[in-house]
Amino acid sequence: MPSDPEIKQSVLDTAKAMVECGLVEGTAGNVSARLPGGRVVLTPSSLDYDSMTLEDLVVTDAEGKVLEGDRPPTTEKALHLACLRQYEDIGAVMHCHALFASMFAVNHEPIPCVIEEFDIYVGGEVPVAEYRLTGSDELAGEASRWLGDRAAVLMANHGLLCVGKDSGHTLKIAQLVERTAQLVWGARMMGEPVPLPESTLEKFAPIYKVVGRLR
Ligand SMILES: [Zn+2]
Repeated sequence: MPSDPEIKQSVLDTAKAMVECGLVEGTAGNVSARLPGGRVVLTPSSLDYDSMTLEDLVVTDAEGKVLEGDRPPTTEKALHLACLRQYEDIGAVMHCHALFASMFAVNHEPIPCVIEEFDIYVGGEVPVAEYRLTGSDELAGEASRWLGDRAAVLMANHGLLCVGKDSGHTLKIAQLVERTAQLVWGARMMGEPVPLPESTLEKFAPIYKVVGRLR
């Protein structure tokens, strides 16, 4: 397993990249990753990503008690910890407000699995978790329960939640989901998107379950 400094640097780099890629604006969105010994490192609440440094990150135990750091952790702390507690196989969590994915979230509409790489890297269509208030334990429970066999879930009227091997991996998942949401949106403008054959979905979805997020 990578060391604390390596994991923290990856969380910080991912948080900054999330803004640079346009997956969030301002101080929205948040990133977390598992540290050795059952600890978790999270981005802090309401701090500009441009000026964020390693010292601004917050380390908690699995229940959210702050162990290191002077700032409060992200207000979506419960969401991140619920995912990491529930799924031993994931190493990191990212929440963002990607524009096209959020359009599907507002319409309570899953993002369909229309390209092969989506099936392999996400595990199938991205479902929609029911609306719950931001920052609540109810949102954490509702959103995390969808991530047993896939890498992403939409949070109704809110945004996107992705899980992966490490924080860099969650960024790649978020970018793929956002690109596919835009692709489907555009394809619908042109006409009726054609689904992948069922046989392809059956062939590729198990690949995600086997190797998609192993640390
Ligand atoms: Zn949010």
